[in-house]
Amino acid sequence: MPRGKRREFTLGDRQYVLNQDPIDGRCDVDIPDDGKPYEIWINPRLRGKKEMNVRIHEPLHGIHPEADDDEIDTEADQLTEWLWAAGYRKRSRK
Ligand SMILES: [Zn+2]
Repeated sequence: MPRGKRREFTLGDRQYVLNQDPIDGRCDVDIPDDGKPYEIWINPRLRGKKEMNVRIHEPLHGIHPEADDDEIDTEADQLTEWLWAAGYRKRSRK
């Protein structure tokens, strides 16, 4: 992704932008009160299975904003195990 260009993506019926944050991950589920678009933040230092789990977990909050974190955790853990067992891995950028 080119620097300076924010990529938007749809989760449920909302448009989100992706940002970076030192916290592993978080996702707006309520209307942002600062006038900004809905955002998801991912820690860029995450790697491996943990990164996969966070990259599944956070958008699930956007798709299911009413779900509590335990439900999202369970779904994200199951999907992570499913994809990890099938051999999916992030390709390193060269
Ligand atoms: Zn969560």
